[in-house]
Amino acid sequence: MSEEGYVTAVDVKNHALCPKITYFVHVLHLKERVTEAMEYGREVHEQAPLELITSRLKPVKVLRNLELVDRQLRLKGKVDTLVVTAAGEYVPFEVKWSDPDPSGGAQPHHKAQMAAYAMLVDRAFNTTVKRAIIYYARAGKLVQVPITHQLKKHVKEMVEQIAQLVKSEEEPLVKQSPSKCINCGYQAICQATPQPPRHIKLKQEPRVV
Ligand code: SF4
Repeated sequence: MSEEGYVTAVDVKNHALCPKITYFVHVLHLKERVTEAMEYGREVHEQAPLELITSRLKPVKVLRNLELVDRQLRLKGKVDTLVVTAAGEYVPFEVKWSDPDPSGGAQPHHKAQMAAYAMLVDRAFNTTVKRAIIYYARAGKLVQVPITHQLKKHVKEMVEQIAQLVKSEEEPLVKQSPSKCINCGYQAICQATPQPPRHIKLKQEPRVV
């Protein structure tokens, strides 16, 4: 959450990944440990392969690093890239250093982040964003995110949950899957981190010679 009480699109993404991250960031004010994957992700982010998207959408306008704030939604965010097509369609685009969901679509927390950007773009440009696009750099895959009414509703609910959590200062109870914790910068301090399976040493039978 920002100092003015706005929930950011990154807060929405983190909360969708794990509500404990909201607690660590906004209640305990802990800084995330930067993992190697994050460092690499940052570099990839800076070299966003824009031609991947421009060759497909043939935009008439490309806006970069667009800071948007909406008082009514209590939401703010920085849209990396916003493509405007000749047909007047607004398409937010972002690069992620990771892989898509095993199903081949965008990861659920990335969908939530893109929907938050879409909602900000809707209101800033008086339009209705129908889709966002993510480039998953590790997999080398472009994935489309349909911006549905359901997804926007989910974002609104999360904005409310984040505000409530920050107000109550209560640590949420979560049961997380190891695959979600593996690249989490709070893993070292998080007691909910799933423990790796213990290797039981089998007692060796004495060898008969
Ligand atoms: S380590 Fe796992 S449970 Fe803990 S905050 Fe990160 S994702 Fe959530």
